[in-house]
Amino acid sequence: MKVYRIPPVCSALIFDMDSTLYTSPEYAGDQIDLPIRRLARLRGRSFELMKEDIDAYRNTWVKTHGENISLTNTFKNFGVSLEENIRWREELYEPSRYLKPDPVLRETLESLASRFSFALVTNNPVSVAQRTLAVLGVVEFFTVIVGLDTCKVSKPHQAPFLKALETLGIPPGECIALGDRYDFDIAPPLELGMGGILVDGVEDVYCLKGILKGA
Ligand SMILES: [Mg+2]
Repeated sequence: MKVYRIPPVCSALIFDMDSTLYTSPEYAGDQIDLPIRRLARLRGRSFELMKEDIDAYRNTWVKTHGENISLTNTFKNFGVSLEENIRWREELYEPSRYLKPDPVLRETLESLASRFSFALVTNNPVSVAQRTLAVLGVVEFFTVIVGLDTCKVSKPHQAPFLKALETLGIPPGECIALGDRYDFDIAPPLELGMGGILVDGVEDVYCLKGILKGA
């Protein structure tokens, strides 16, 4: 975990979902591999070669732009529109195959709910987010969910964060963003004047009560 900034007054937490509210290397890997497998089939290529091409594209992007590119934006460059990408994710991702209710996460959110509002900002579609939160047993804590289909752009674009702030009705300076990828989840919120905490997985979220004691 790395705490980048905790604002002196804080009333909302904006969470990333995948690899933040749960830790499942298997699901994280399949979320990349399943759409690549579909793309490979559509193009009549092997999965291995398609994955090599996607990885090479993303690695070149980091070298030339100095920041990571989302899978959604990568797929656009391989001819898969945003709308198609959203549909593929809705069809291919089955969180219940990998995840189960998390009583410790639930307890953590319950203990923070009297002091903070919660929002979820994810590069997955809203319906996938809802299914994921339901499997984890925490869906009722998130009245604000901003997904790929909400703003039609993916993080690290600032728009999803601005949308979450607007819906929460809370200024950026009173918010903390939490997520597992600095470029996507932490850098844009810090630029907007929010706080930021980089986590290594849900185990770090369990420690939030102690970390936010003074916030
Ligand atoms: Mg994540």
